[in-house]
Amino acid sequence: VGFTVQILGSGAALPTGQRAPSAQYLQCENRHFLIDCGEGTQMQFRRFNVKLQKIKQIFISHLHGDHFFGLPGLISTMHLLGRTQNLTIYGHPDLEKIIRGMLEVGGHKMTFEIQFVALKYDSPTLIFEDKVLEIWSFPLKHRIPTCGFMFREKPKEFQLDGEAVKEAGLLIEHFHRLKKGEDIELENGKKLNHQDFTFPPKPALSYAYCSDTKYFEDLANVVSNVDLLYHEATFTEAMLERAKTTFHSTAKQAAEIALQSKTKMLILGHFSSRYDDARLHLEEAKSIFTNSVAAEDGMLFDLRKMFS
Ligand SMILES: [Zn+2]
Repeated sequence: VGFTVQILGSGAALPTGQRAPSAQYLQCENRHFLIDCGEGTQMQFRRFNVKLQKIKQIFISHLHGDHFFGLPGLISTMHLLGRTQNLTIYGHPDLEKIIRGMLEVGGHKMTFEIQFVALKYDSPTLIFEDKVLEIWSFPLKHRIPTCGFMFREKPKEFQLDGEAVKEAGLLIEHFHRLKKGEDIELENGKKLNHQDFTFPPKPALSYAYCSDTKYFEDLANVVSNVDLLYHEATFTEAMLERAKTTFHSTAKQAAEIALQSKTKMLILGHFSSRYDDARLHLEEAKSIFTNSVAAEDGMLFDLRKMFS
């Protein structure tokens, strides 16, 4: 069962022929999430064969256009295709006014409901939870209120060793406890160690998305030990001053966060359109954190394959 992240847009504010603005598609088992929705995200869905109706939750980091201008078009397409499934959008409280206003002037009676959930910008907040996954928002430091998002699988159960449990004649009621890693005592008083009847659980995977932000050291603690880290790298060090005044990061700063957070892999993205490619960003990041990659539109990361 998968845990994948696909880059739909790897560029900053000005779209180019190479890079669409920010959007990522995250799939965890049969959950389908969209993170940010820059202009033209629905075209990226088509380009990379992502089924847009499967998306149930959308997370918008902040209200700069390159992170949410794709929403009206995407929602409109969902409506035209006759969607009935509810959609939940997490974002700044103002987002609801904006989107509802746009939909109202069109005068359509929507075929599905949209729920808006307002993000908090003062501390990390659990915003979604089910039996497999937790999703947290956490504050970043940009010119306007901005959140990053962390996707964390819950600890997984031990896997039963089918042959061993069969040989010992164990029953379903025992399986439940073994899977939780508990030892059991049979009615005849015999004690069984769970390790003799199970294989270790698959690792619980995690992914953090840090969209637009200036460098701040504490971010590394917030995303500490995440398996895969996406961090914006709008500029290279040569433009450090510009990064500071626009509340963005350089590739070197992104790599420093990666290093301090002890992540296993760093994805750089949100490259300014002034660069022809991300070669310099990547070089700069790798000098500090070797396992860095520069995002390209369409790139797919399979965390289960990479980290277990
Ligand atoms: Zn941006």
